[in-house]
Amino acid sequence: MMKDRRSCKIIQDLLPNYIEGLTNQETNQFIEEHLNECNECKKMYTDMKQKLSEEGKENNKEKVDYLKKYNKRIYLLRKIIFLIIALFVILYSVSVIRKMIIISDINKKISNYSKINNYYAKATQYGGDVMRIMEKYSKDNRCYIKTTFISSDKNKNWIIRDYKNGEQINSYYENEQQKNANMNVNSMVEYNVFGTWYERFLIYNNLGLLRIAILSDISTEKCNGKECFKITQHMLGSDFELVNYVEKNTGLPIRNIFRTTINEWSGDGVIDYEYDIENVEDSIFVEPNIEEYKE
Ligand SMILES: [Zn+2]
Repeated sequence: MMKDRRSCKIIQDLLPNYIEGLTNQETNQFIEEHLNECNECKKMYTDMKQKLSEEGKENNKEKVDYLKKYNKRIYLLRKIIFLIIALFVILYSVSVIRKMIIISDINKKISNYSKINNYYAKATQYGGDVMRIMEKYSKDNRCYIKTTFISSDKNKNWIIRDYKNGEQINSYYENEQQKNANMNVNSMVEYNVFGTWYERFLIYNNLGLLRIAILSDISTEKCNGKECFKITQHMLGSDFELVNYVEKNTGLPIRNIFRTTINEWSGDGVIDYEYDIENVEDSIFVEPNIEEYKE
């Protein structure tokens, strides 16, 4: 058959599309018929096909390499995220355990004070219009509590003295206008200075301790000249916050601050504590002259 230069040219132009499968059926037939008869075009077809398939392989290899790299990156990213989360969990756990140790140590120290038979404790409460000073003298089975209310309104200034001597309890009230006494009353408000603190940290089990540790922030700060733990207790689901300054060495409360974000409760409530251990003398339990008081 005569070589037709022109149809060879056309066929060679079509070959790339033919190999890619982009040509239609009629064209395919035309090309195939020509390839069967023309060695030159057939050779060109074979070369081109081989070249393209090699390029394809190369492309695939690149794709696979890229995927491998991509997967490696994802894996690395996952690993990093996991490590960051693990680090946070570890740091958080360590901080909670540290708080649990501090609180249970304070609890141990303060519980020793509940066994002391001779102590003086003073709690001064500020906040609002009235300042309240409670002084408690305790020795063996005797107790004297002096409560002083100081207000800008003189009529609200009161001093209350409660004496407990064994079973006998006597109560003396006075302000500028009057002096009253209640002898042998049934009970008295026995302000448990150590108790106020102790009850707050009354821990029945490790779960309770864990709960308090989670809900508290603990830092170290000086308060009233003493090295303290500042323990901020967040009350779950409320607007209240209690800040406790606790002396490191003794576990004794030094200052409590009661905070709220509720507007009607303007200002913080503050209680300052002072102590004197083993120095209470018998003379403090001598009651006032009853003749000066109205029974
Ligand atoms: Zn040809």
